[in-house]
Amino acid sequence: MDRLFCVIPCYNEQEVLPETSKRLKEKFLGLIKDGKISEDSRILFVNDGSKDNTWKMIRELHAQDPLFQGINLSKNMGHQNALLAGLMTAKDVCDVAISMDADLQDDIDAIDEMIDKFHEGKDVVYGVRSKRATDTFFKKFTAESFYKLMNALGANTVYNHADYRLMSRRALLGLAEFGEVNLFLRGIVPMVGYNTDVVYYERADRFAGESKYPLKKMLSFAIEGITSLSTKPIKLITGLGFFIFFVSIVVLVYSLIRFFTGHTIPGWTTTVLSVWAIGGLMMISLGVIGEYVGKIYLETKNRPRFIIESYIADEKDEEVFGRSDRR
Ligand code: UDP
Ligand code: MG
Repeated sequence: MDRLFCVIPCYNEQEVLPETSKRLKEKFLGLIKDGKISEDSRILFVNDGSKDNTWKMIRELHAQDPLFQGINLSKNMGHQNALLAGLMTAKDVCDVAISMDADLQDDIDAIDEMIDKFHEGKDVVYGVRSKRATDTFFKKFTAESFYKLMNALGANTVYNHADYRLMSRRALLGLAEFGEVNLFLRGIVPMVGYNTDVVYYERADRFAGESKYPLKKMLSFAIEGITSLSTKPIKLITGLGFFIFFVSIVVLVYSLIRFFTGHTIPGWTTTVLSVWAIGGLMMISLGVIGEYVGKIYLETKNRPRFIIESYIADEKDEEVFGRSDRR
């Protein structure tokens, strides 16, 4: 029987935790009863440096029911790192892991189908949103443009898939081999390979609390995703540079002809305009290159991606959870 770990990053989620834990527990009990997962399957919450009572609640949950376990990060490390911390901890004790958000926006009934696909021999099963009826137009528009832009710029992600996915143990071990500090899991998982499949579900509303991804965070997440997965933007800039160089030669020839035929142009406007245009393009180019240099800088530093302060688990898992080299 396969041991399932459900990994859930939590940042200030005290409003949703009681309901999430209740619903997940029911789900787990059902799956255990149906003989789809083993009795020692666990729900693993990762507290990502919450400022509210999240960690306290996780500890209480564990005290009530060993089904719940928890990892406490030393500070807020961001969604992706928190998720990785959970997955990397789970990989040594589970047969299969499912990652999802704490707010139940991902339909937990899709878990059954994911597990079925896993039993059919799939190593990675992506949860894909079939429609976004409940998202606001703005969220839907920005999110969908994000996926399109990502793919256009060479980062292969699964369309409309966030971080709701199943991964087998060997897929997790594969993921562990990717040591990048600039972490964008949904772009890296497809690189792990193996047999994959998708499961469709409808995305619900966050039922309590507010989104931890305001527009500013979403934008930086998009830039992070693109620059950490592909060098296409640099190529685009080089192409743009060539194009502009070509245009400037044409303009040069044109203005020389005008000059020698006696039509000297007052030309101030165009000159100033082009100075600005080129200046702007240069700034953009430098900015893009700067992004990549910054990435290289961080990768060479090889900083830990997460640091675990404490954890709460039953005896069986304690030894594995407590390994100090876990980063
Ligand atoms: N999250 C986290 N660390 C952060 C921000 C978010 O662990 O710094 C978690 C959060 O608790 C939730 C998940 O990441 O479980 C997704 O966040 P949210 O639901 O706010 O994002 P949205 O669904 O609005 O994109
Ligand atoms: Mg959410």
